[in-house]
Amino acid sequence: MRLWRSVVGKLWMTILLLVSFVLVILTILLIQFFEKYHVDQIEQNLSDTAEKISGIIESHRNDGLGEEIVFEIVDDPMAVAIAYDKERFHYSPNVNESNKIPSYVFLNDDELSKVFTQQKIIKKELSLSELHESGSRFNNYIVAGVPLHLNDNETGAIFIYQSLGVLKETTKQTANLILLAAGIAIVLTTIFAFFLSTRITAPLRRMREAAFELSKGNFDTRVPFLSHDEIGELAIAFNQMGKRLKFNMNVLRQEKEQLTNILSSMADGVMTFSRDGTILITNPPAERFLQQWPIDGNEANYPIPPEMAELLERAVADEKEHTGELSIQGRYYVVIVSPLYTHDQKSVRGAVAVIRDMTEERRLDKLRIDFVANVSHELRTPIAMLQGYSEAIIDDIAGSEEEKQEIIKIIYDESLRIGRLVNELLDMARMEAGHITLNFEEVDVGVFVERITSKFQTIARDNKIDLKSHIEKEGVLFSLDPDKIEQVLTNLIDNAMRYTHENGKITVTQSVVKGGITISVEDDGTGIPEEDLPFVFERFYKADKARTRGRAGTGLGLAIAKNIVNTHQGQLTVTSKLGEGTTFTLFLPNRS
Ligand code: ATP
Ligand code: MG
Repeated sequence: MRLWRSVVGKLWMTILLLVSFVLVILTILLIQFFEKYHVDQIEQNLSDTAEKISGIIESHRNDGLGEEIVFEIVDDPMAVAIAYDKERFHYSPNVNESNKIPSYVFLNDDELSKVFTQQKIIKKELSLSELHESGSRFNNYIVAGVPLHLNDNETGAIFIYQSLGVLKETTKQTANLILLAAGIAIVLTTIFAFFLSTRITAPLRRMREAAFELSKGNFDTRVPFLSHDEIGELAIAFNQMGKRLKFNMNVLRQEKEQLTNILSSMADGVMTFSRDGTILITNPPAERFLQQWPIDGNEANYPIPPEMAELLERAVADEKEHTGELSIQGRYYVVIVSPLYTHDQKSVRGAVAVIRDMTEERRLDKLRIDFVANVSHELRTPIAMLQGYSEAIIDDIAGSEEEKQEIIKIIYDESLRIGRLVNELLDMARMEAGHITLNFEEVDVGVFVERITSKFQTIARDNKIDLKSHIEKEGVLFSLDPDKIEQVLTNLIDNAMRYTHENGKITVTQSVVKGGITISVEDDGTGIPEEDLPFVFERFYKADKARTRGRAGTGLGLAIAKNIVNTHQGQLTVTSKLGEGTTFTLFLPNRS
């Protein structure tokens, strides 16, 4: 840093300037004083001598010795001119061309002539530059004039004068001395001022360093307070400020951490924006949301979905909360945007958006609506039939006893169907609520599978279907809930029978695999369209969309089967090709 910009420099300069100023004034005053003192001294001396001379001349007026005595006592640098009258001027012998003041000067000078005319004692400084041929030199003289009374009617004068050159010499010496003293004073002042200001500013410099440390975030920095003056107090205040800052920073940091923790552990996405739409803060769910938004897509120049940007603009514009819905890549989101105020609550500095993924809720909602619709639909058909056929009996439409029997049979079947549907729904509800308890038993899987298969042999023969079981390994003991797994297999074989044409073939295969067993039911029936495969295990799914085979089933069988297998920690999978056949494979893991 440049010296004159520092406090040391400024203090130093100020002290120096002050002292120099005082010294200059003092020097000028002193020099003037001495000059005046010397001039006064000389004037006094000259006039005293002039009076003495006039006394001597007057007392020796008759013997003419006066002049001799006078010229004897007058010595350099004084010179005397005795004027007996206005014409007769006698100069002392030490007067030569260079220091002679001609008589007309005394006579023509306004004041000096008063010695003759008014008999006054006159002291005067004379400046005679024009006297010398060289012109450039001029001489200053101090002249004292005293009247001389030789007789009553004649008045003469004594003029005694001295060149000021000598005086100038003395004054110069005095001035030199004073200047030397002033110079020494300035040098000393410089040194003292420098040390003084360095001492004063040393703690300030230390405080400056501490402040820099503080600004770097080093809040433990302290400055020592060495003195008890204002600077010492400043150090105490500085340390207190540091302590306070540290405390506040800690509080702030804690609050920030708390906020960050809350934000990052939230299930909802939170984003804050500045007024111009720049994203300031995001939490992990919000980031996942943003990642779904195709940055490289058409809307590349906008980092957030346009619907959201619009909500943002509105929230900033009218300072109100706005809610909107948007869907990105098949997922639904609800976005709530509210304005963010500056700390003085006066203006809006941005907005905060809360993003909630509503996909699951939507899905459940849809499921619930579909479920109600499906159940109603499934119940409507049998109920309509019950109504229709019972009306037929009431109206006695049936002609013969056989017809009546047939109608009653239909009514009976439909009521069974309603019963079955209700039971299945109940089962499902129980299973989904987790109220299913499995009664595990060690069973011989081969025997178990064969028993279930043989149950269907009669129907298979009636439908001309070749139903076979294939046990890869006999006598395998396995732990499972026989009732529940029978329910699963029954449904699988029942489905296979239903969707297999005459002369079709169904094979139930049981095999032992790594980690468990598999039982598969393979048919060469109608098959399931590939696009429907992912949905076969959903409730009420029927490949036959028109549900024309009203009596064929409810569409709950596979959903229940899947549920049962899942509670066994197993897997139920399907492979199928339209027109070629379907294979359902059930995998059950060993219980450890
Ligand atoms: P439920 O079993 O409740 O009486 P369902 O048999 O119609 O009714 P699911 O067993 O769940 O219901 O079967 C659902 C749908 O899957 C069936 O309607 C059928 O379209 C299709 N499906 C199931 N198994 C086969 C198969 N082996 N061959 C072709 N399609 C099948
Ligand atoms: Mg079925």
